[in-house]
Amino acid sequence: MAEMPAPKVKRVLEFHIEMKHFDVDAALILCIDPRWWNPRAANPSATIVEFVKAKGWSFVPLTEAGGIKLLVSGDPKDAVLKQAMFQRIEQEIELHHPKVLGLTVHRDCGGYGYAEGFDHDPGKENARLYGDLWKAKNVLEEKFGARARTELYIFDGKGVEEVSF
Ligand SMILES: [Zn+2]
Repeated sequence: MAEMPAPKVKRVLEFHIEMKHFDVDAALILCIDPRWWNPRAANPSATIVEFVKAKGWSFVPLTEAGGIKLLVSGDPKDAVLKQAMFQRIEQEIELHHPKVLGLTVHRDCGGYGYAEGFDHDPGKENARLYGDLWKAKNVLEEKFGARARTELYIFDGKGVEEVSF
């Protein structure tokens, strides 16, 4: 490897944040789908930031294609990533003490094969998403329930739904 040259650095944005540690209200498990993250995306009224503002939460995002899909996967190919995700959740609980683990999925998710993956049948899609939320709630409550409560949410083009069992 070549010797590292002196780095050229310029500040491209200025702001003033007090860099002290703080705990968050929620750790959210979210899909990486850019529609939920970008101001110019198709559904700017349904972004993650609007959601947490409406909840009044500070938060940390834990992102994965499909949101919670990985956490309930029984596919042996997912085992390593799934274990890593559990470690990331554990770390977040240790570091930032969220009181809530927000488990999320969204409709028309690439991780689930988009709406096509359910033959454009909202009933089939809902059955899978509700089922995965139910499984994720049970798995995470078993692992972390003594330290944080779970809340379940579904995002779509019209907003966010809370699901409870
Ligand atoms: Zn997605």
